[in-house]
Amino acid sequence: MEEKLKKKKKPRGKALLIQGKCIACGAKCQAACPTDAVEMSESGEPIFEDAKCIGCRKCIKVCPADAIEIIFPPGEAAIPSEIESESLSDEEETELKKGGVDVLAWKGVWVFVEQTDGVAHSVSWELLGVGRTLAQDLGVELSAFILGSNIKALADEAFGYGAEKVYLMDDPILSHYRTEPYLHGSISLIRKCKPEIVLMGATGLGRDLAGAVATELNTGLTADCTGLTIDKKMRLLEQTRPAFGGNIMATILTETARPQMASVRPHVMSKQDFMPGRKGETIIEPFTLPEREVTTKVLEVINLVSESSVDISAANIIVSGGRGMLNADNFKLLQNLADLLGGVVGCSRSAVDAGWISPDRQVGQTGKTVKPKLYIACGISGAIQHLVGMQNADYIIAINKDKTAPIFEVAHLGIVGDVFQIVPVIIEQLKERGAKSMVCE
Ligand SMILES: Cc1cc2nc3c(=O)[nH]c(=O)nc-3n(C[C@H](O)[C@H](O)[C@H](O)COP(=O)(O)OP(=O)(O)OC[C@H]3O[C@@H](n4cnc5c(N)ncnc54)[C@H](O)[C@@H]3O)c2cc1C
Repeated sequence: MEEKLKKKKKPRGKALLIQGKCIACGAKCQAACPTDAVEMSESGEPIFEDAKCIGCRKCIKVCPADAIEIIFPPGEAAIPSEIESESLSDEEETELKKGGVDVLAWKGVWVFVEQTDGVAHSVSWELLGVGRTLAQDLGVELSAFILGSNIKALADEAFGYGAEKVYLMDDPILSHYRTEPYLHGSISLIRKCKPEIVLMGATGLGRDLAGAVATELNTGLTADCTGLTIDKKMRLLEQTRPAFGGNIMATILTETARPQMASVRPHVMSKQDFMPGRKGETIIEPFTLPEREVTTKVLEVINLVSESSVDISAANIIVSGGRGMLNADNFKLLQNLADLLGGVVGCSRSAVDAGWISPDRQVGQTGKTVKPKLYIACGISGAIQHLVGMQNADYIIAINKDKTAPIFEVAHLGIVGDVFQIVPVIIEQLKERGAKSMVCE
């Protein structure tokens, strides 16, 4: 009787190599195995020891060739179909609840819509673009949350960019950004509604707020992500970003805390097309922190952006120079080309470090992320720290005298040669043919 009442133990199965699929990647499965159940053969293929394998599937997740499957010993084989609808095993469920947080109670993808004077930062709409994919993969709602004063009109914009729900906190105290009131508003919303994922722009404001929110909620935050995907089985956000000085790409998980928080720089993700007239549900939430409890006061707002400064991250055409330009004077050549094309001049960090050009023109990990229609890289080798800032450009032309330069791996058109011979010829041709007629809008 007691036996009957016992919960049926879910079978885990055993890992098995699918013959002919292993690519001998370097023992990733062995490294991932928590029970030392994997030995490597001389040819670099795994041999699984059934007695030790607990069917945790970690080897399957890391296998780059989908070369491992789970098999069920006779007797267990009938059980999987009965429990097929259950998405998580007991152990996986326990794992998700460890750390004292019932992560399964958190649902939905939220995007913070950053605004200044009622105008949204475009990174918010880019985040709704990637947020839509994440929400679809999880089968949950995509929501936006907006804090500010007189910001109701932004809700319609958020619906147009894909939000299904918009949470609004509209209060004069929120008219200028200050950490305390924005933190108070954000965490009260997040604690109440429990979204499993919260995305923010990696802007000055977003970096400040995201860090404060994550600290207050005692959760993880991955800053400056370049990729966001979902591990559907474990319902985890896979947050990819450059690590160790950009030499590797790390995928980071927030396994035992909620929400999973990530920030993304402007121009890294793509916006969805705006759908005018699209509607959703607006939820107005009260803001409860009185002004007297806010320790910072805004006395004056001074806009430091001078008229002569150029926002390379918004440019459609960028002509960028690196160490191969040899000196500051040679950047005039790139300025000529950029002027003819109606673009701006960018650069690598080496050019900034050499003092040839100002830091606001730097493209890359510690500079700006750009997504122009055309990016022309002149005398730039293509270090990973540079590539992460420009590889999403629609069309990349690279000019480099070293045919093995990594920039050619991301270039759509590679020109192996001397930049001082090639750029003047391009300029001459553009002048002859009429540059404007050659450049697509
Ligand atoms: C934490 C960290 C963050 C970083 N952040 C950034 C960043 O944001 N942005 C960034 O750019 N870098 C960044 N870097 C630096 C990065 O690692 C590289 O050192 C840098 O991008 C190299 O710049 P470069 O390509 O101009 O110079 P180099 O690597 O020296 O390449 C110069 C290239 O010019 C070519 N060349 C030379 N003469 C000519 C010629 N006459 N005609 C054609 N080609 C020629 C050469 O073949 C060579 O490929 C960062 C590094 C670290 C550690």
